[in-house]
Amino acid sequence: MRSWEQVISVVLHAFRLDRIKRRILVFGLLATLIPCLTVGWVSYLRSKQFLTEKISGELRNASAHTVREFDLWLKERFYDLRVFSRSYEVSENLERSLRETEGPFAKAQALGHLKDYLKSVLGKFTDYDELLVVDANGKVIASSAETAGALNLPPDWLKRAIADTPVVGSAYWDPVLNRPVMMLAVRIARAADGRFLGVLAARLNFHVISELLDNFSVGQTGRIYVIAHDGTVIVGSRSSPETFLKTTLPETATRAMFEQEAVPLEYRDHESRDVLGSLKRISLMDLNWGVVAEIETREAYAESAQIIYLTLVMVLGLLLGIGLPAYILALTIVRPLDRLTRGAAKVAAGDLDVDLPVVGRSEIGYLTQAFNRMVARLRKARDELAAINQVLSEKNKELQELSVKDGLTGLHNRRHLMETLTSEAARAERHRHPFAVLMIDLDHFKQYNDTLGHLAGDRLLVRIAQIFRESIRTVDYAARYGGEEFLVLLPESSPEAALGVAERIRSVVAADTCGGAHEMGKVTVSIGVAVFPKSGNTAEALIARADEALYEAKRRGRNRVIAPA
Ligand code: GH3
Ligand code: MG
Ligand code: MG
Repeated sequence: MRSWEQVISVVLHAFRLDRIKRRILVFGLLATLIPCLTVGWVSYLRSKQFLTEKISGELRNASAHTVREFDLWLKERFYDLRVFSRSYEVSENLERSLRETEGPFAKAQALGHLKDYLKSVLGKFTDYDELLVVDANGKVIASSAETAGALNLPPDWLKRAIADTPVVGSAYWDPVLNRPVMMLAVRIARAADGRFLGVLAARLNFHVISELLDNFSVGQTGRIYVIAHDGTVIVGSRSSPETFLKTTLPETATRAMFEQEAVPLEYRDHESRDVLGSLKRISLMDLNWGVVAEIETREAYAESAQIIYLTLVMVLGLLLGIGLPAYILALTIVRPLDRLTRGAAKVAAGDLDVDLPVVGRSEIGYLTQAFNRMVARLRKARDELAAINQVLSEKNKELQELSVKDGLTGLHNRRHLMETLTSEAARAERHRHPFAVLMIDLDHFKQYNDTLGHLAGDRLLVRIAQIFRESIRTVDYAARYGGEEFLVLLPESSPEAALGVAERIRSVVAADTCGGAHEMGKVTVSIGVAVFPKSGNTAEALIARADEALYEAKRRGRNRVIAPA
């Protein structure tokens, strides 16, 4: 294998991707997901950028607009106050109430007129909660309210009023009115010579501003707050008035927005809403306030979120529409390959009974066909080999039989006899058991041959062998020792029993008529008996003894059995 292939194979193994099925699955997923997610992500970023620009513009506009309206509103309120302060009712009654020459009744009457005037003005303007007239020493001498409220004005307010500078107090929560208010103050001068008489102060509520803020709020979740420099919410849209002056925007966000006016900032507001906010300063007179326009990021980026949902739906659709069919297609490759692999493993293990289903006309279909043909050939070769083996083993068996059997009579041959006799002698020696051998020879067989022919002689030999087989037990053993000489081995037999068997064989042969008669009379046999261990304890010794006995039987006239003395 080439080195890069090795590297790839190691990497695939590390990711547990050795199996083709998994590789195809991963390929399908990557091929579907990467383009989808890339396109989705780029669209998301583009749309977010676009939305940020759009929303920032809207927030900037809303805050700038509000600042303008607020400026206008506050300037109008000062204008109102100046008009009131210059009214004859105010300057005249104030002066009278202060004039030393007036009697107490006239003074009280002047104050009563002043109060009535303040009340009547208050009734016509919703922006004011209280109007007060203060004398040149800073003492409240008349109020539109039954009980005059506190003067919440900056410390140097009197000096500034004398200098005819409009005075603005900071916003505060009025516990009596139960709402946020702020105080304004302007100079009151004598109409005739413009001499300083006192101050007209007004307690201002944020009613109108609050409604204004509602109109300028951006979107569904947008809010606009007028805040102090420390982030305290003075008034806000879509908020409960109870929270005014009691809640504060996050400190860091407030500082950042004051430092970078009109730059949108993402932060979590005092109500734990994730918002995008933008601030515009209110730099009217001494006020160091700001207007913050904010909108929830969820709403601001709703379209981007939609792109994410769309991308996810697209991914899901592509996975189902392309990924799934691709995977199923891949399975049509992988499953036959799996079958081939399992089939090959079976064949490798020696099982040739494999015939795989051929599906389709693909390369794998052809490969499967070729595999089936190959296995069929192997099977045929195996069967042929088995048949040849069968023949060979039969032939082998025959050869084995031939090597131990006599070809004419079917009895064991002399070589086998010698081996058997030797091992029987050894066995008998070990177990101290007796056994016997009978040496049998046909009488006058030469003459039989000469008279009836060699073929008849052969037939007689076959018949005699058959008689031996029929006359002995299955444990006994008969062999052809020479031309017409035979040897019978009788294991576990006493000399008497052996003699009995020999005698039976002799008499059966003599009584048998198959051989027919010849010049010397009937076919007979002479038998010499030898017994272990009396006659000898080796094969050779026993054969020699039996032979001697046989010779003795011939000598005594044949057709008889001679046992050792
Ligand atoms: P005796 O009674 O003394 O044994 O006389 P005999 O004629 O049997 O004596 P001998 O042992 O000399 O003769 C054996 C004969 O057996 C000689 C041979 O022609 C014959 N013979 C040996 N083997 C075969 C054989 O396989 N087939 C046939 N037909 N004859 C055989
Ligand atoms: Mg002989
Ligand atoms: Mg003979």
